[in-house]
Amino acid sequence: MAQWIQGTVVDNIHRTENLFSLRIDAAVDDFTAGQFTSLAIDIDGERVARPYSYLSSPGQRPLEFFCYTATDGLLSNALVKLDSGDQLWIKQQPTGFFVLREIPVADELWMLGTGTGIAPYISILNTSEPWDRFQHIVLVQAVRTQADLLYQEMIKTFESKYPDQFSFQAYVSREPVPGTITGRVPASIENGSLEASVGRQLNTELSHIMLCGNPDMVKDTVIVLKGRGFRKHRRRTPGHITVESFW
Ligand SMILES: Cc1cc2nc3c(=O)[nH]c(=O)nc-3n(C[C@H](O)[C@H](O)[C@H](O)COP(=O)(O)OP(=O)(O)OC[C@H]3O[C@@H](n4cnc5c(N)ncnc54)[C@H](O)[C@@H]3O)c2cc1C
Repeated sequence: MAQWIQGTVVDNIHRTENLFSLRIDAAVDDFTAGQFTSLAIDIDGERVARPYSYLSSPGQRPLEFFCYTATDGLLSNALVKLDSGDQLWIKQQPTGFFVLREIPVADELWMLGTGTGIAPYISILNTSEPWDRFQHIVLVQAVRTQADLLYQEMIKTFESKYPDQFSFQAYVSREPVPGTITGRVPASIENGSLEASVGRQLNTELSHIMLCGNPDMVKDTVIVLKGRGFRKHRRRTPGHITVESFW
C-alpha cells in the first residue's frame, strides 16, 4: 500500500483566480512521466486526499503540480492557501497508466487536454522519449479564457526545439482570441477545424490520441473518434485512444 510522506511547499504561484502551480520538495519514489500521485491535508482531523498528475518530469526538482481551485472543493481550496515552508502529505509511490509505455506503436501522437489536464503532457514532453518515438506530436490545450493559457513559455520551447515535429493548438471557449479555436474539442474534430488548423489528418493507421481532463470532453471526444473508426486502447485489444478523466 502506498505510504504518505510529508512534503514541504517550495512555492505556490497563483496564476489566475482559480489556477495555481504548487511546487513541493518531498522524497517521493521515481515516477514515469504521465503518472499521478495523491496530495492530502488533514482538515478537522480527517485526511482529505485527491489525485494530482505530476507536471514536473522524472528527476526534476522541486516537484510541480498544476492545480484548479474547484468551487466548494475541499482540498483544492486548502492547497491554494499553502505558502512556502508549509507542510502537506504526498503519496510516496506514483500511480497510473497514462504513460508512453502503454501507448502502442504509432507515427503520430495527439495529446488533447483541457485546463489542468495539460500537466501530464508537459511532464511527458520534457522527456526525450516522445521525441525519439513519434514522427509528429500535436498538443492541444483547451481553456476558458486567454489568461488560462498557461505554460506557454514551455510550449514555445517545444516549438522552437522541434519545429518540424511539433504542432500546438490552443482552444479558448469563452472569448475570441486570434490563432485559437473557439469552441469545444469534440465539435472541432467533428467539423474538421482542428485538423485544418494544424494541417494534419487524424488517421487510424498512423495516429494515437491521448485525452485528459474534463470527463465530458473525454467522453464526447471518444464518441466522435469512434464514429471515425478509432477504438479505445486496451492492453488486450490494442486501439488508438488512451484517456485520463480528472473527475
Ligand atoms: C488521475 C487524476 C489526476 C488529477 N490531476 C489533477 C491535476 O493535475 N490538477 C488538478 O487541478 N486536478 C487534478 N485532478 C482532480 C483533483 O483530484 C481534484 O478533484 C481537484 O483538485 C478538486 O479537489 P477538491 O477536493 O477541491 O474538489 P472535489 O470535490 O474533488 O471536486 C469538485 C468538483 O470540481 C470540479 N473539478 C475537479 N477537478 C477539476 C479540475 N482539475 N479542473 C476543473 N474542474 C475540476 C469537478 O466538477 C468536481 O466534481 C486529478 C484527478 C484524477 C482522477
